[in-house]
Amino acid sequence: MLPPVARRFVAGESAASVLDHARRENDRGVGVICNLLGEHHRERASADADTVAYERLVADIGASDLRACISVKPSQLGLSVDEDVFRANLARVVAAGADHGVFVWVDMEDHTTVDATLDTFEEYVRDNDGGMGLCLQSNLRRTAGDLERLADCPGKVRLVKGAYDPPESVAYGEQSQVDDAYREDLAFMFREFDDGVAVGSHDPEMLTLAADLHAKHGTPYEVQMLMGVRERAQYDLAGACDVWQYAPYGTSWPAYFWRRVRERKGNALFALRAIAGG
Ligand code: FAD
Repeated sequence: MLPPVARRFVAGESAASVLDHARRENDRGVGVICNLLGEHHRERASADADTVAYERLVADIGASDLRACISVKPSQLGLSVDEDVFRANLARVVAAGADHGVFVWVDMEDHTTVDATLDTFEEYVRDNDGGMGLCLQSNLRRTAGDLERLADCPGKVRLVKGAYDPPESVAYGEQSQVDDAYREDLAFMFREFDDGVAVGSHDPEMLTLAADLHAKHGTPYEVQMLMGVRERAQYDLAGACDVWQYAPYGTSWPAYFWRRVRERKGNALFALRAIAGG
């Protein structure tokens, strides 16, 4: 069972719990991006099982009146087993999304997966004429070129700074360089992406920049933040622009929960206080 301390960052263990969470967040003006926790499946059976779980979730969202969508990880759908397994499973999820009118985001994992993820995304998003979005990471040197490649594609891009730790041969090493790249990538997207821009960041400076770029270019945009992170800001922003909250769920929550706790002193203190308080 999900302990109370983990409930700040994880919606629950079941699909029903993430849908309940989505209803509560919708009432506060925030859409929810549902993510079934699980990654790096080495066996085809686990990748197929998560694919089926996503097909069911998409059908449930489609049958509801929720403002909700999904985000999948390539290695969860089989990229660590074989690229063809990933392609086949993503095709099933995308078909379910199209059938039920549910948007499908594809997360980006470590730098070695970018080519396979990007190629598959581009093929499917063009075939489907949208309905999908891809995450790109500004800490990778290649991302400015990848954005140019996707500029005339239907679908959306979620720009993040990058959660992995790539080698300097392919990535910017200093945080200030990553921030500069994020600013430049964001400016490019607001100039060139007519279908809209998704700003995946909690950084107040980047959120202000996005609002300024929107005022200048008129490009529609949405802000995406994680469940349990700057939630007050999410509700406040929801009056001014589209806000979506990325909400993970599932039984594989411990690794995700500890990653959130470790990444920031404030989160570690919150966890310690919650554990000490019972
Ligand atoms: P940072 O650069 O970490 O921090 C900048 C400032 O933001 C801080 O000084 C503080 O003011 C504020 N801030 C940041 N975090 C917090 C916090 N916990 N509490 C309070 N204030 C905070 N990464 C991937 O590699 N692949 C993905 O597919 C992916 N998907 C994502 C989806 C969403 C919706 C989001 C929000 C992030 C995703 N990420 C993904 C993670 C992303 O790459 C970053 O690691 C993460 O968002 C931290 O960067 P940042 O821009 O939020 O702020």
